[in-house]
Amino acid sequence: MNREYLETVLKTMSVSGHEEELQKKVISHMRSHADDIMSDVTGNVISVLNPDCESKVLLCGHIDEIGFIVTSIQSDGSLKVTNAGGVRAVLYLGTQVQIKTKKGIINGVVITNSSLTKRNDLTCTDLTIDIGASSKEEAAEIVSIGDPICAKTDVLPLMNDRLAARAMDDRIGAFIVTEALIRAKEKGCKTGIYAATTVGEETTLRGAYWSAAKVKPDCAIAVDVTYTSDYDGVNANSTGEIGLGKGPVLCHSSIVSKKMNELLKQCADDLNIELQYEIAPGRTGTDADKVHFTNDGIPTALVSIPLRYMHSSVETLDMKDVEQIIELLAEFLCRFNKSINLNPFE
Ligand SMILES: [Zn+2]
Repeated sequence: MNREYLETVLKTMSVSGHEEELQKKVISHMRSHADDIMSDVTGNVISVLNPDCESKVLLCGHIDEIGFIVTSIQSDGSLKVTNAGGVRAVLYLGTQVQIKTKKGIINGVVITNSSLTKRNDLTCTDLTIDIGASSKEEAAEIVSIGDPICAKTDVLPLMNDRLAARAMDDRIGAFIVTEALIRAKEKGCKTGIYAATTVGEETTLRGAYWSAAKVKPDCAIAVDVTYTSDYDGVNANSTGEIGLGKGPVLCHSSIVSKKMNELLKQCADDLNIELQYEIAPGRTGTDADKVHFTNDGIPTALVSIPLRYMHSSVETLDMKDVEQIIELLAEFLCRFNKSINLNPFE
């Protein structure tokens, strides 16, 4: 596993709709590993192994992150914003942010005062960002309406090889799909692998649609994060009991192929990897939902990384889970071939 590359992925801004800079880093990293790299108009990057193989597996890990978009510059030089994706405004009061402008990345702080902290109905449009400018004109020389903003945070190693960072959701999934391709290649995989780092999951699922429509795979696996139920104030609820460091999570959902889950379970058993299960009776809230409904319908599975504190700036995971998911996916990719029939009646 390339930890240096993981740090690069986690440190680069990729607010939903503004993923190009990080995608360029994926392209330059994967150039030496993939047989081919495809891209498309909406901004997906798809690293391909064995492009001549008839059987094709699509992996999707979304590379966009939640954040804000500048909506206006006020007369005092401060910025107003709206959210890109599921941002909880209260988590940002009194925090540092970064704004990607035409002149590069600049710093800002989200203002806080007693009337803001007392509110329990705070929304993202209530937030104001101070960039240090003293007038609208001064700010407008640097900042444009539509510029993306996200938390200014670093990658923080914790005990037991646990890692905290903003937007592990789902840059860790984007990292995993490319690492799974590299690991499958090391294992001599002959299957056609299409590792898509998809755009726009947090806002529109546009990347999942474009990549599945283009690749037309025999089956697809979305790799995303899922809520754990193992920390203060959170109980195991209707989605199941999930713990950090306790292994990859498979999803039972009406959109997930049971036969794919069985194959994944077989791979996990043979590799001595413990699995966890979550329940999503309907849609899963991931790229899997969109991929499943693309073309004539695509058999889909969802493999998730246990994650604490979802959609905060301190999303925390266990690198043991990451290693195991890479191994599990690589094994599935090596075993998948045209003779595997995913029709539940045959
Ligand atoms: Zn996600």
